[in-house]
Amino acid sequence: MIDRLSEAGIPSVLFHQNASGGLGDLPVIYPEVWIKRDMDLEKAIGVINRFVSRRLPPGTRLCRQCGESNPATFEICWQCLTPLAVSATD
Ligand SMILES: [Zn+2]
Repeated sequence: MIDRLSEAGIPSVLFHQNASGGLGDLPVIYPEVWIKRDMDLEKAIGVINRFVSRRLPPGTRLCRQCGESNPATFEICWQCLTPLAVSATD
């Protein structure tokens, strides 16, 4: 993931890369990607979504407004209510 972001010219830091599920009373810690520059956020979301979308079902639509993935049957983004355009994984 970090490699993909740096290829896109986005400096970022990965925390908790080897984190796994909690045991007993330990909290569950998930890996986190921190973008160094706020201006890169939108671009970084796009890069991450392209990476993640390969594992999404065919026809999944990515919102061009917020970058969220939506099922093929959705006409608007469930998160920001922006109308969805083309399918991302056809
Ligand atoms: Zn959206």
